[in-house]
Amino acid sequence: MTSAASPVLVDGLDRPLREVRISVTDRCNFRCTYCMPRSRFGPGHAFLPRSQIMTVAEIIRLARILVRLGVRKVRLTGGEPLLRPDLEEIIEGICSAGALDVALTSNGALLAPRAQRLKDAGLHRLTVSLDTLDPQLHRGISDSGVALQTVLSGLSAARAAGFGPIKLNAVIRRGLNVTSILPLVEFAREHGDIMRFIEFMDVGESNGWKRSEVVGGAEILAVIAARHPLEPIADGTVGQVARRHRFLDGRGEIGVITSVTEPFCGGCTRLRLSADGRFHTCLFATAGNDVLSLLRTGSDDAAIAAFISRLWVVRTDRYSEERATAERRDPRLEMSYIGG
Ligand code: SAM
Ligand code: SF4
Ligand code: SF4
Repeated sequence: MTSAASPVLVDGLDRPLREVRISVTDRCNFRCTYCMPRSRFGPGHAFLPRSQIMTVAEIIRLARILVRLGVRKVRLTGGEPLLRPDLEEIIEGICSAGALDVALTSNGALLAPRAQRLKDAGLHRLTVSLDTLDPQLHRGISDSGVALQTVLSGLSAARAAGFGPIKLNAVIRRGLNVTSILPLVEFAREHGDIMRFIEFMDVGESNGWKRSEVVGGAEILAVIAARHPLEPIADGTVGQVARRHRFLDGRGEIGVITSVTEPFCGGCTRLRLSADGRFHTCLFATAGNDVLSLLRTGSDDAAIAAFISRLWVVRTDRYSEERATAERRDPRLEMSYIGG
């Protein structure tokens, strides 16, 4: 519902709609073992047919409607968004639709030649996924032929283009890259970037998630603080998912995203839109709500806004808070499809 005092759409648990994550493609040039394991996303995998993927104009039209409904922040994701040659047009259109904060999450492999164009298109903020600084381990985790150095060159180009501080996302998995935590922190401090450590999540059905492989945020913070003392940053920002900490020596900050050990569903103000134009009200959704068919069969903006509003006002998702007790449900959608 929207109240007269504040034109904010709130859901069934009183959470405002503030942010949308738009997946612009379900394809990727990496096969990260925690996201798109090759056993499931091999040569025979059926990606969405091109005809079912939202066009630039469709994405921009939806962004404009979402901004009118109260969305302030748009994050473009995927799959790998830089696989879309028209990404800059999408960014320009979303900026002109009135979004106050337009961000992109990328694996960085194709960033070097595009960084300046992304900046020129109006992109405000950039997040690059970087799970380790060990070239062999990077090759193993990303399961791609892309060298770590290519990603690091992408980061340099992005800093030179004026993105910064860049957020660096690392998924930490026990037995895999715990020893990468400190080198990543030191790399980020040296370059003025911000590390975000993400707990390994049970998104989708194919990444072989085990609770025992989750390295909790508290443990990650302890590893870092033992070398570089930290203090929490009090952050009252609505929808802030990272627990932020600053270094006591004044050289930057880090964040941990504790969706498994300390869920934050109470502040979840995000809607998700998959590349085939379906809205999802939770990262752990089992089905989406098709808006692309409405667009393609001539619905006007008012009808589409009403469709989105109806979805949001009945939303009661809080999967991460219910994880321990939740009944087994229908198969969850994959991260690369829903967009992370
Ligand atoms: N391909 C881009 C990238 O990797 O940055 C954007 C899409 S990716 C799905 C978005 C984010 O989700 C990445 O930072 C990735 O590390 C994270 N991610 C994927 N699978 C995950 C999992 N099982 N647990 C936690 N984070 C995950
Ligand atoms: Fe691709 Fe990103 Fe998933 Fe890795 S995390 S497989 S880069 S979508
Ligand atoms: Fe939001 Fe769902 Fe994640 Fe909870 S589990 S924070 S409701 S996306």
